[in-house]
Amino acid sequence: MIIVMSPEATEQQIEAVVKKIQEYGCDANISRGVERTLIGAIGDERRINQETIDAMQGVEQSMHIVKPYKIVTREWHKENTVIDISGVPLGGNTVQVIAGPCSVETQPQMDAAAHYVKAAGCRLMRGGAFKPRTSPYAFQGKGVEGLEMFRRAADAEGLPIVTELMDVRMLETFMEWNVDVIQIGTRNMQNFDLLKEVGRVNKPVILKRGMSATISEWLMAAEYIAAGGNHNIIFCERGIRTFETAYRNVLDVTAIPVLKRETHLPVIVDPSHAGGKAWMVPALARAAVAAGADGLLVEMHPVPCDAWCDADQALSPEELQQLMRELAGVAQVIGRDI
Ligand code: PEP
Ligand code: MN
Repeated sequence: MIIVMSPEATEQQIEAVVKKIQEYGCDANISRGVERTLIGAIGDERRINQETIDAMQGVEQSMHIVKPYKIVTREWHKENTVIDISGVPLGGNTVQVIAGPCSVETQPQMDAAAHYVKAAGCRLMRGGAFKPRTSPYAFQGKGVEGLEMFRRAADAEGLPIVTELMDVRMLETFMEWNVDVIQIGTRNMQNFDLLKEVGRVNKPVILKRGMSATISEWLMAAEYIAAGGNHNIIFCERGIRTFETAYRNVLDVTAIPVLKRETHLPVIVDPSHAGGKAWMVPALARAAVAAGADGLLVEMHPVPCDAWCDADQALSPEELQQLMRELAGVAQVIGRDI
């Protein structure tokens, strides 16, 4: 950390800052300029509470030199991390498309969905059994019964499953049903107690971006999971809230290269919740792959207009097939496959 003292700072104030740095277990290096004195804190600067330093008399500003996130940062881990999802690699050269309905509805719906996901060439399936709905009166998901239906349908096609965990009390049940990837939804990105708990299990986690979370808040949320020992984290950009109302959310394509630079962990994109309309999904999906996304999370329903949740944004099975063909072309151009 570098601490810039104000031009009027007194010797006693400089000494007080040095003493405080030493209390945190760091060494202080004083550099006296013509106008200002700079103090460098050497050692594990993450131990230093920046707010405490900023509040000290004579301090103009302070800056951290190392990133506040240590496990998820690319700083100490240069290579891309490839996550093994029950035999399917995510984060390598192959772009993985995770497709399936917004929510688990019935066994025939899930059986048909699994069949179409597989037929389109996708290797992973999504579906929510516990749904975070804006209204408490809207369909809340089939719950544990939904997990059972999902597992049965996906197993018949040999597809690992991705499903959202909202309540930490359900974690054991998710483990019993052998959920392959735990999804943490946008509304729970900063539910720190939930993040700590999924940090303790050895299951891949998709961490969706909070609807108005900054990149740094998102990375710190991932660090919560990583700090518990679970490093199998996949970031999912799903659009952010802005002033625009012409579409559900704004897909932040910039987040893809920025995250790929900041972290070694895989980054995927959910074009369905970003656009909110099925017709927007192909364009957003192509943009995401072109920008370097390692995968996509796409909503597809056997009969979109019958979907119990997010009917407007679900692709039909034919549209998913068509999208997979288009994405193969985009992936090829950038030296990847699908
Ligand atoms: C979902 O993927 O089912 C979902 C609810 O998405 P989000 O958390 O991004 O709104
Ligand atoms: Mn949905």
